Amino acid sequence: MEVGGFLIGFEGLELGKHNYKFLIDDSFFKDLEYSEIQEGRIVVDAVLTKSSSLMEMVLDFNGEVIVPCDLCGENLVHKIDFEESLVIKTGANQYQDDGLIILENGETEFNISHYLYESISLSLPSKRAHKHIDGEPRCDEELLTIINSQKDADNNDEIDPRWAELKKLK
Ligand SMILES: [Zn+2]
Repeated sequence: MEVGGFLIGFEGLELGKHNYKFLIDDSFFKDLEYSEIQEGRIVVDAVLTKSSSLMEMVLDFNGEVIVPCDLCGENLVHKIDFEESLVIKTGANQYQDDGLIILENGETEFNISHYLYESISLSLPSKRAHKHIDGEPRCDEELLTIINSQKDADNNDEIDPRWAELKKLK
């Protein structure tokens, strides 16, 4: 199955099942101005089932993305492996909700790239950090030491001189 573009045309599409394959790579994320993810590679295998009233798409996401670690800021490879389904219909007003996309009546094509991005983005945990081993984050230790010592230095600088005076009184 060849990798296709992100624009799905459904005018004249026969009823039944249709296979799609999407490749998401660095350039995909870079093309989306709002993308928080900048690097990754994911293959999405999708099956679109067209019936007379609606279209249903089952998508299988497989690959990985690189996001910064919350703790050390270094690259963190996050595995992507999930499946989800999407219902596409047409209606009077354009609408998008979890698992449902309504396109305006008369629309004959649909660009799925935004939906794919959202799905990947939502699949990531809100806290992204290197794995913990024995309760300690497995970040680059040297780097963390540098970050922590910088934090300490910043904290010291931030003390209001008036508070410093008060501290002396203790
Ligand atoms: Zn880290």
